[in-house]
Amino acid sequence: MSIAEYFSSMDYGPAPEDDKAARAWLASHHARFGHFINGAWTSSSDSPSFETQEPANGNVLAAISQGGAEDVDAAVQAARAAQSGWAALGGHGRARHLYALARMVQRHSRLFSVLESLDNGKPIRESRDIDIPLVARHLLYYAGWAQLQETEFADWAPVGVVGQIVPWNFPLLMLAWKIAPALALGNCVVLKPAEFTPLTALLFAELADRAGLPKGVLNVVTGDGSTGAALVDHAGVDKIAFTGSTEVGRIIRKSTAGSGKSLTLELGGKSPFIVFDDADLDGAVEGVVDAIWFNQGQVCCAGSRLLVHEGIEQRFVEKLRRRMETLRVGPSLDKTIDIGAIIDPIQLERIASLVDRGIEEGCTVWQPTGVALPSAGSFFPPTLITGVSPASTLAQEEIFGPVLVTMTFRTPDEAVALANNTRYGLAASVWTETIGRALDIAPKLKSGVVWVNATNLFDASVGFGGYRESGFGREGGREGAYEYLKPRAWAKLKQRAAQPARAAALVDGDDSDAGSSAVPMIDRTPKFYIGGKQSRPDGGTSFPVYSPEGAYLGDAGEGNRKDIRDAVAAARAAGKWSAATPHNRSQVLFYIAENLSARADEFVRQLVERTGVSRTDAQSEVDLSISRLFTYAAWADKFEGTIHEPPLRGVALAMNEPLGVIGVGCPDEQPLLSFISLLAPAIALGNRIVIVPGRNSPLMATDFYQVLETSDVPAGVVNIVTGDTRALMSVLAAHDDVDAVWSFGDAAQSADVERASIGNLKRTFVDHGKQIDWRSRDAEGFVFLRQAAQVKNIWVPYGD
Ligand code: NDP
Repeated sequence: MSIAEYFSSMDYGPAPEDDKAARAWLASHHARFGHFINGAWTSSSDSPSFETQEPANGNVLAAISQGGAEDVDAAVQAARAAQSGWAALGGHGRARHLYALARMVQRHSRLFSVLESLDNGKPIRESRDIDIPLVARHLLYYAGWAQLQETEFADWAPVGVVGQIVPWNFPLLMLAWKIAPALALGNCVVLKPAEFTPLTALLFAELADRAGLPKGVLNVVTGDGSTGAALVDHAGVDKIAFTGSTEVGRIIRKSTAGSGKSLTLELGGKSPFIVFDDADLDGAVEGVVDAIWFNQGQVCCAGSRLLVHEGIEQRFVEKLRRRMETLRVGPSLDKTIDIGAIIDPIQLERIASLVDRGIEEGCTVWQPTGVALPSAGSFFPPTLITGVSPASTLAQEEIFGPVLVTMTFRTPDEAVALANNTRYGLAASVWTETIGRALDIAPKLKSGVVWVNATNLFDASVGFGGYRESGFGREGGREGAYEYLKPRAWAKLKQRAAQPARAAALVDGDDSDAGSSAVPMIDRTPKFYIGGKQSRPDGGTSFPVYSPEGAYLGDAGEGNRKDIRDAVAAARAAGKWSAATPHNRSQVLFYIAENLSARADEFVRQLVERTGVSRTDAQSEVDLSISRLFTYAAWADKFEGTIHEPPLRGVALAMNEPLGVIGVGCPDEQPLLSFISLLAPAIALGNRIVIVPGRNSPLMATDFYQVLETSDVPAGVVNIVTGDTRALMSVLAAHDDVDAVWSFGDAAQSADVERASIGNLKRTFVDHGKQIDWRSRDAEGFVFLRQAAQVKNIWVPYGD
């Protein structure tokens, strides 16, 4: 076309980004890469390799080494060798390194963004203006936490060697989200990039070495899923941080169960984009474009379910279609395109087959007629699907492509119900001009992030992560720092000795009371406490409880699967507790303490009789239990959120929300204090619990329900089931209506719980059989409160 013709048609001409520097870098490596381990390249000719391609045209970019178990082992050893020195460098030293890495990214920003777009197929506009600036922002932000580590995280130590596995949709950004907090806080890293997109991670490692990062601090091992699995299974790794599909997240949860490795999972999503009838519709249309066509919809938090107020649906969809006609699909290095290439023909095929499935299920598919697709490469047009029912495949399955499904709602409650009708819980976007409505809806949405009149906003200061099957753990913010730290006090804990079930002592003459004519004590049968009522075991069986010396103390109910089911149903029904004000919850906890205090003498006597401790120790256990209830009554209305100030006109409100229903398993030691130490933080922050006392010491807990009954604790908030603790905890861990499990008391039980939790990927908090001294200050406070809450970040931009 001539210039005159461009003027008359107003079409865009081609505006390709210069790729010489990126290709020169590839050529400098002869387009073959080894792994980057201990500050050096491994030989690329010694190992099997695979090719990475340009999604925009299918051309091969480079040959990449396929990492095996030996490569992973070499990388883990290098990281281990470097870790103590890196930690000893101190916060300021590490802050200098992180700062240097941020500047390095800024200095080479064009090379990084071009290489990223070549390898991933994403529009250069996005890699240049979003991904790479955010990479630098993360490194700078965590340079700040490194600097502040000694004062702000004085009670916390680095986790050690961290294995990090990232997907292909934001290759360098995911690297930065993971390595910035890990390195800043004194850990060393072995990173496995995605098979489709390894190049920017390799470039980063090479440049980081040149920028002076000590050898072994950051190691990159390339390969496919089997390389990731070798990293997960390596005994020398202390933590796995994974971003990817929910399916692989489950596999990793299972293989790390019982290993003592800590784990964070950032998984998939099916995020709602809710448009109310009072929204700025043109703004919301632009929002949809950013929500589902950013990065070709290959975004874990893509707003892939459009929920529109019924009255405006037609108008909104018309506007959206008009806008879709103007979208431009094309090669990633063209600066004028909106939508780039899909990562790989396999993913293209998956998107197409899901859309076909929608057609089979009766949905209506619409694609703009004016959008031309390039003839080569993997491209899919922007797609709008109507006539979708909440249960249809397209409304439930993550498509991970440029495909939007729409549904309508009539009332705000219906919008919330539809929005939450998914197994995921990563993000949500709410469009309304009424701020009161937006802030009323946001806490009701089961997702880790909510954007008000905005979408896909990210910043290093604002935590990101999922509820439900979107995973657990947060990246970004102060909360993201804790994911790479462990409490110093806990690191010193000793493994507790195995605690076999107690039995009767075989003492001669233990039937010496036989024939006594004294009037016996009135029989007292400890029951379960479910839904605010005392109830008998479903199975109609009990087990004998003995003191440590083998004296018979009484019988406790033998709980089974059905008792747990009833207890979980009661806890689930007590949802009002989660919505109660913190002031209200605080009062109830103070009141529990008051009532325990009123019965202190009885509890002291029982502790002496049942556990064999001295009267002084028993008195101290009761006093500490009362004090601990006061502690959590105090925290109930003080464990508040934060207001973040990301670099935009607006704020992000980080709210500490309850997890929902928590299954709690207690140890045998200090049976009153440990029971209270676990119960109180969980309910203080609005959770409802099903709590299982230690097998050998259930009677202090069953005595305690009489305290609960007199303390205005609403029915269902605390449910107590006694029995075989390990077996009952496994049932709780496998229950899909339980949101989290805490397991204390036994290493094997910790492993069972982690393994059984994969169904709905519940968050777990376990002691791995380490013996906690419940009298210590380390057995209360932030460590427990953090586990009792999940952070939701609500972004509220402002201005016209
Ligand atoms: P996968 O889960 O398949 O892969 C993610 C990473 O894990 C890749 O590096 C992959 O290697 C590796 N991997 C695969 N199998 C195993 C295994 N058994 N053990 C250890 N590692 C393994 O996801 P995709 O790469 O296909 O990414 C798309 C998915 O990721 C989507 O579902 C998306 O929602 C989710 N995602 C979530 C994000 C979040 O923040 N929550 C962000 C981005 C994506 P390989 O590349 O060779 O397959």
